[in-house]
Amino acid sequence: MSAKKTIPIGFEEHDHKVCVAQALSGAEARCAAEGLRLTPVRRKVLELLLKEHRALGAYAILDLLRDAGFGSQPPVAYRALDFLAEHGFVHKIERLNAFVACAHPGERHSPAFMICRLCDAVAEAQSSPAKGGLGAAAQAAGFQIEKTVVEAEGVCPACAERANT
Ligand SMILES: [Zn+2]
Ligand SMILES: [Zn+2]
Ligand SMILES: [Zn+2]
Repeated sequence: MSAKKTIPIGFEEHDHKVCVAQALSGAEARCAAEGLRLTPVRRKVLELLLKEHRALGAYAILDLLRDAGFGSQPPVAYRALDFLAEHGFVHKIERLNAFVACAHPGERHSPAFMICRLCDAVAEAQSSPAKGGLGAAAQAAGFQIEKTVVEAEGVCPACAERANT
């Protein structure tokens, strides 16, 4: 981990222990209800991502898995990430080629991300980009939007404050 590692909090102050615990038990409940297998390694990968509120690449995840005593074969991490992404527990951030835990799993949504270019913190907005200006343009063009990828890059509140002091 780099020295600039700070506590990323998805931009907002919150009780992060509760946040991780709730998300994990929510994932367990959903997997049980839908007959999905949340294997120990899948659960661990989700937990690692939930702890961060920050995008992690597959290799960073692999390192953390190894530290946690799990297998160190890349396919193990990739398969776990595929499973988690397929079922909406995590999202892939194309711009960073990295993954982030979903901030509101269980709801159907097109995620919109705000990515801090200084600390890599990621916040997931709940807005529906397809309903905004893009939606109006698509409607005018007779285009049906099925999926949008919104990844905004900028500076998070914590980094902006640090720059001002
Ligand atoms: Zn949290
Ligand atoms: Zn999401
Ligand atoms: Zn930042």
